[in-house]
Amino acid sequence: MRAQPPDNAVETESLVKVYRGRRGPPKTALDNIDLRIPRGSFFGLLGPNGAGKSTFINILAGLALKTSGTVKVWGRDIDQDQRGARAAIGVVPQELNLDPFFTPHELLEVQAGMYGVPAGERRTARILEAVGLADKANAYARTLSGGMRRRLLVAKAMVHSPPVLVLDEPTAGVDIALRQQLWEYVKGLNARGTTILLTTHYLEEAEQLCDRVAIIDRGKVVACDTTGALLRRLDSKTLTVTVDRDLDELPAALAAFAPEMRPERRLVFAFKPSVSPVGRILAAVQEAGLTVVDLSTEETDLEDIFLQLTRAARDSG
Ligand code: ADP
Repeated sequence: MRAQPPDNAVETESLVKVYRGRRGPPKTALDNIDLRIPRGSFFGLLGPNGAGKSTFINILAGLALKTSGTVKVWGRDIDQDQRGARAAIGVVPQELNLDPFFTPHELLEVQAGMYGVPAGERRTARILEAVGLADKANAYARTLSGGMRRRLLVAKAMVHSPPVLVLDEPTAGVDIALRQQLWEYVKGLNARGTTILLTTHYLEEAEQLCDRVAIIDRGKVVACDTTGALLRRLDSKTLTVTVDRDLDELPAALAAFAPEMRPERRLVFAFKPSVSPVGRILAAVQEAGLTVVDLSTEETDLEDIFLQLTRAARDSG
């Protein structure tokens, strides 16, 4: 009989990790993390460097020991069913480390062996096909491009068909075309039911891919919501407009938007897209009798969002 799949692919309760080095004070990397990652979701774990993302992932994957709390992967408690929990998760690491003398085919076979996948159930050729590496099956890893290596690492994490796939900052330093390719593949996996946990510090990436996002900062979850709800909460952008002439003072038509006047005829608008769409700001610029020579918009980046979300905590603490 097959067990029912769990509602949550990953579930942690009061998860704490304290690093105790020989020197220096203990460091609390995870401070009571309660997180539920629904089965089938494409879940983004966002946070600045040092927030605790890698620690969290390493604990899920059985690569680091928690200090306290409970962790379930695919309904399997990592203390009570360590093997079951590990079998349910595949991790695509950050580094592109691959043994240069293994071919993709060999690498996947070795990995399948490590996970105890019987020879008859291995899907090496199919997986290589799926990540677009079928024609490189027997090439040495050192001859593969960066993008191919990245895809090979995704393939490696998939050999035991885990229902949960973790991607740790997978596109840091990956060019746009390869990034797209990788996302198409991962989106396909997600569409076919694999739960994806992605860590990144690119909000835009999370925005495009993830249906749910948790933001962690200094070991604590500071926000966890659907991506849409979170972005609405973090609704802010910057628009820089270069106009055709010098301004001594702010035209009345623009007063409501309170732009900052900068040298070289630039006006910088901080705005909430949900309240003032760009079009309305540009219309006001025109109404003020100005011609737009150049313009650019900037998303709020994650660092800003952290400041927004954690400022109150920092101020009071
Ligand atoms: P992130 O992946 O979000 O950058 P990490 O999980 O790597 O964050 O780190 C969280 C915190 O724990 C950081 O303050 C980091 O310095 C500390 N840390 C991580 N690994 C160790 C370790 N092995 N020993 C001591 N401190 C560590």
